[in-house]
Formats: sequence, C-alpha cells, structure tokens
Amino acid sequence: MSGRVLLVGAGPGDPELLTLKAVRALSTADVVLHDDLVPPAILAFVRPGARVIAVGKRGGCLSTPQAFIEQLLVREARAGNLVVRLKGGDPFVFGRGGEELEALRAAGVEADIVPGITAGLAAPAAIGIPVTHRGYANGVVLVTGHAADGNAEPDWRALAASRLTLVIYMGTRRASELRDALRDAGLPGTTPVAMIANATRPEQAELVTTLDAFVEAAAAARLASPAIIVVGEVAALARRGQADSRKAAGADVQI
Ligand code: SAH
Repeated sequence: MSGRVLLVGAGPGDPELLTLKAVRALSTADVVLHDDLVPPAILAFVRPGARVIAVGKRGGCLSTPQAFIEQLLVREARAGNLVVRLKGGDPFVFGRGGEELEALRAAGVEADIVPGITAGLAAPAAIGIPVTHRGYANGVVLVTGHAADGNAEPDWRALAASRLTLVIYMGTRRASELRDALRDAGLPGTTPVAMIANATRPEQAELVTTLDAFVEAAAAARLASPAIIVVGEVAALARRGQADSRKAAGADVQI
C-alpha cells in the first residue's frame, strides 16, 4: 500500500489556533516532519508511537537542505506511511510548501494540503490590528523582507503608492534596510508601524511606533525573531493596555 503526504499548517504557535484537520492529521500520522517554528505544545498532538523528525532551517542556523527534506517525504510515503509535513503558519505562505508539493507530484506521491493560520494575519490580530479596515486600507500585501537568492526585491515604490497594508515576514534582520527602502519609496516617516514577535506564544512581545522610529524601538525592546512587521495606517489601531500580562511574562512592551 502506498502512503501519502499531508502538508499541514501549524498556525502561528498557539495550539488553539490549529485546525481540526491539523489535529486529526497529527493524531493519525506515522511520521511527522516539522520545522523549528512549531512549538512542543503542538507536537503534543502527535500520535504516540509516531516518528517525529525535526528538519529545522532557520536562516543562518544549522539547516536541513530542502532537497533532503523532499527525498525523505518521498521515501517515507513510498514505504506506505501517512506522512505529515508540519509547517509554521500556512504551508503555502513563505513556507516552501509549493516546492514540496511539486517534488511530491513529480515523484508520483499523493499529497494534500491542510491550510493554517498564517503569522502575517495572526500577529496583527493578536494586538487588535485589522489588516483591512474601511477608511484605512482596502487591501493587504503579504511580502517577504528577505528576498531569496536570485529573487528581486519587492517593488517598494509600487507598494508604498498602493496605500495597502504591508505585512512583512522575515524582516527583522533587515529592518534598517526595509525602513530606508520604504522611506525612499515615498512613505512618510510618520507612517504607523507595528512589530509583533512570537505572536500568540507566551513570549509574545510587540511595539507600535512609526516608520522613522521602529528600528531603534525594536532594538531597545529586544524584539526577537520570528516577528511580523505591519506598515500602514491600520497599525495605529493596535489595542492599548495589554502590557500588564505580557510584562508578567517577562516581555518588553511598548504600546
Ligand atoms: N509559513 C509561515 C511563514 C514562514 S516564514 C506562515 O504562514 O506564518 C517565517 C517568518 O514568519 C518569520 O520570519 C516571521 O516573519 C513569521 N512568523 C512565523 N511565526 C511567527 C510568530 N509566531 N510571530 C511572529 N512572526 C512569525
């Protein structure tokens, strides 16, 4: 009997933001390959006896080559296993799910997708920022702040002119370049900017400031990766007065 692969979104970190389909997949899987954005509280749903393989690849750290992950998925499925490839957020939003799906199809392995709540939507929501809002932004762009090798930088000028909310993934290490690019693209330095690190996790920390100030503010607050940067008028709608519980958890909060 040939197995199959499910590409499953684990959501942003809070186990309660898993889908019922994700929980069912984890509780029936024979093998789970997960990346390192997936917290232990979510791996707790894996069926006892299933094999759990970490294939983390955070930028700059030890990594598992993509080709190796794809080969492993194919091999395990061909061995007859139900294989869950568990990814942070949504598998198809900066998750390389598209590449893995292509590789599986090319190998003739059956594969399905279980969408997840992407960090770019969960993180602003966690602090009360609506990414679209009548009168502020009639659309939202999910964009990477870290153009992959060979990929062109986003057209920041077009994005700045669009007046859409910009939700930037993987932007923390290039924060000052992003600030400069957005100002050069014509966004006023007073444009509201929010940064949310570890959204929906116990260590969540956030700040709401301006384009001019966010790089220094993030450094001062020691906002760590993974973080989402939200640029646009809606960022100013962040909920206030959430600081106390987070301070108790040891996080720096400036809202
Ligand atoms: N597929 C994932 C994104 C993977 S790219 C998704 O749909 O969410 C990794 C980037 O996602 C990080 O650099 C960061 O920008 C963002 N990210 C993932 N989890 C996050 C979290 N809990 N809080 C804030 N940002 C997060």
